[in-house]
Amino acid sequence: MKRVIGFHYTLTDKTGTVLDSSIGDEPLYFLENTQQIIPGREKVIALRNVGDKRKIEVKAPDAYGDVNPELVVKVQRTQFPPGAELKVGEQFQVNNDAHSPVFTIMEVDTAEVTVDGNHPMAGKDLFFDVEIVGMREATKEEEGHGHAHGEHGHGHH
Ligand SMILES: [Zn+2]
Repeated sequence: MKRVIGFHYTLTDKTGTVLDSSIGDEPLYFLENTQQIIPGREKVIALRNVGDKRKIEVKAPDAYGDVNPELVVKVQRTQFPPGAELKVGEQFQVNNDAHSPVFTIMEVDTAEVTVDGNHPMAGKDLFFDVEIVGMREATKEEEGHGHAHGEHGHGHH
């Protein structure tokens, strides 16, 4: 029988800046031995009991990869929809597929816009503080799907 493990996490970079956190929100749930929550080799399932905490360091190449300078490109302003608000720091996707890369606007000038298609966390060593906050047996449905459905096993997607 697999277990569903709930955990809270706080993600920081090496300067200690918080990049993301589940604290104050719902914990995340995952089905052990099937889902990898943290990029890289390390798995939260190394933690066995509610209350277990650990700090996990994931080096950039094992996380979101190194920054690829070829993904920083200049685009003609005319390529953007007329009236689009082009502001430094704005992010957009080139189509509606949730898995397509996110581009960040780096620079806007009169003719060209510089955009960066690297993942915002590319090139960063990441530090995850994780704490196990819940544990239960997986439902048959979850085992069939290969992922957790939330705290009580009936969240749908
Ligand atoms: Zn499912």
